[in-house]
Amino acid sequence: MPPSHPSTGPTDGPTDGPPDGPGERPAGPFAGPSDDGALFGLDELPTQTPAGATGKPRFRDSPEARRMLAVREIHAEPGAAASPRGRQILAAYPEAEVVPVDSHWRIPDLHGNKGNAERWVRVKSTVLVLGEKKTLTVRPNGRSADWIAPGAANGCAMACAYCYVPRRKGYANPITVFTNIERIVSRLRRHVTEQGPKSEPNQCDPAAWVYDIGENNDCSVDALISENTADLIHAFTRWPTAKASFATKFVNPDLLDLDPRGRTRVRFSVMPPDDSRLLDIRTSPVERRIAAAGDFLEAGYEVHFNLSPVVIRPGWEQAWAELLQHMDDVLPRAVKDQAAAEVIMLTHNRDLHDVNMAWHPRAEDALWRPELQQAKRSENGSWNVRYRNADKAEAVGTVRRLVAEHAPWLTIRYAF
Ligand code: SF4
Repeated sequence: MPPSHPSTGPTDGPTDGPPDGPGERPAGPFAGPSDDGALFGLDELPTQTPAGATGKPRFRDSPEARRMLAVREIHAEPGAAASPRGRQILAAYPEAEVVPVDSHWRIPDLHGNKGNAERWVRVKSTVLVLGEKKTLTVRPNGRSADWIAPGAANGCAMACAYCYVPRRKGYANPITVFTNIERIVSRLRRHVTEQGPKSEPNQCDPAAWVYDIGENNDCSVDALISENTADLIHAFTRWPTAKASFATKFVNPDLLDLDPRGRTRVRFSVMPPDDSRLLDIRTSPVERRIAAAGDFLEAGYEVHFNLSPVVIRPGWEQAWAELLQHMDDVLPRAVKDQAAAEVIMLTHNRDLHDVNMAWHPRAEDALWRPELQQAKRSENGSWNVRYRNADKAEAVGTVRRLVAEHAPWLTIRYAF
């Protein structure tokens, strides 16, 4: 979820971008042959889901799934297609054409920014990519989570105008599902074990190490396609010192059946509905995300909020005040008692601005405000843009004041 759904904001550092190197086998007590899941990874995979028995993910027939995805074409690395998870996904879409590819990362016909938005959205809803994630890095974060987990997917079927996820592949960035989920789970298990208990509380969590499992993807949408999200949620129920966390803009009711036992934090991203209608393309309406909070809490999730991105535009303070008041009016007491939030001001990008001008210039009226913004060249050479320091500090102060006034129960974990 940018100051958006991938929750940590644009990062210049390595994520799971190219190249997916030769594969990490870190040293440590769990390194060695068991690293591939042969000894302990597989026994952690879902025992509560029918997919393993039927080979058919259970989520894809919901109305939400049909609205979001109509898969017609699957580009698959041979190893990914032959894996158990790959076979499950292929079996779930028997009508789809399977196109073999050498690398999930280099599919020129799919990626890039050529073409209009209709084409991109069609690609996002009709195309999947199956690949194997080779670089299984757990990165320190300290904002949305203590650690960024190696993602089980990359890309998104939604199309928010400010999203940083496509920055490497281009806007037409359909979901790549990583099929070697057992290696991802095993890598996480090793990392959790190596950390031991958390010795000092921090803003991420007072007691548990928090792992963001959705940096470059939306786990709720991924759960429409495969059991990867379920596997991760299920794995964290067995690790009492750790907690999974992901931000989302999509309400997938099927997640309510996963029994996370308090070990997964869902962070519903919210912004004023007018901003969302302009900027959050293909997402669940903000009011729906807020309305779902009580159900998710009852189902065993921790429920936080991601107040992002905060977009400075005429009337933004009033719009945020109304949003926060709405949350205060409708959220159950139980949600309020455990809720916390992160506040992330908009960051943007020169290249993304140019892309958006070609298909959604109205969004740029809100996102591209040179008189308020400053640019900084990122490590990959592109220009990232954020609000000037003084304007940003003032706006962060305004959001804090509005929260104190309209939603005083909402602890702000951090704001930047
Ligand atoms: S396009 Fe997807 S990944 Fe990007 S911000 Fe929107 S919901 Fe999140």
